[in-house]
Amino acid sequence: MGKLWGSERGWEIVDDTMQIRGGRGYETADSLKSRGEKPEPIERFFRDARINTIFEGSSEIMRLFIAREMLDSHLKLGAAAFNTKLPLKDRALVFLRAARHYAKWYPTRFLPFSDDRDDINLHPDLEQSMRDVRRLSRKLARHTLYAMLRYGPKLEREQLVLGRLVDIGAEIFALGCAASYAQSKVEDAFSPRQRWIA
Ligand SMILES: Cc1cc2nc3c(=O)[nH]c(=O)nc-3n(C[C@H](O)[C@H](O)[C@H](O)COP(=O)(O)OP(=O)(O)OC[C@H]3O[C@@H](n4cnc5c(N)ncnc54)[C@H](O)[C@@H]3O)c2cc1C
Repeated sequence: MGKLWGSERGWEIVDDTMQIRGGRGYETADSLKSRGEKPEPIERFFRDARINTIFEGSSEIMRLFIAREMLDSHLKLGAAAFNTKLPLKDRALVFLRAARHYAKWYPTRFLPFSDDRDDINLHPDLEQSMRDVRRLSRKLARHTLYAMLRYGPKLEREQLVLGRLVDIGAEIFALGCAASYAQSKVEDAFSPRQRWIA
């Protein structure tokens, strides 16, 4: 998820930089230098950054991998209920087992206090961000289930729907990472070792 989000956002930033720099961004550093301009190598950066969404797992393939992980537990639990080749009795049993599971699972994806953690002493400025992460994660989980119900096992082939769910998940992940990193910096600043160094 870090690779997908990092390379996609990184590319957007480089693309915006090129747009902001305009023609000077498009020119090579050598060409800029020969005209007496500051030789900022935006064009080189643009070319180099583009490969990140292709190698070490292209963004499309990363989305497929992540979506597979996202759906796996749902598919294991309920996919057989949609399998018309199985006897009706077996499908009904799978359906009942899944219904029992989701009767407990679903309310916890609605209730705001279901995933509150009292044991983490968050900095007050970060509390809202982490509340947002939890709220959006619950919403994403609900919408993933709705997509499962709508498409059944065929959802695996709905790449645009899956890609959208994965991209939303990656944004929530990035928000959570940023808040966690900020929290770790707060904790470092107040740790005994840090005080000793200071
Ligand atoms: C400069 C450079 C350095 C490299 N270094 C290494 C290296 O050190 N080690 C290494 O192992 N490899 C390396 N590679 C290869 C790199 O990993 C591949 O280019 C990358 O995996 C993409 O594969 P491909 O080029 O064959 O594209 P293809 O697989 O042909 O894909 C073309 C496009 O189709 C999309 N696509 C493919 N399949 C699907 C699908 N099922 N659903 C949706 N979209 C799909 C891809 O996302 C991509 O956009 C390097 C490549 C370059 C350009």
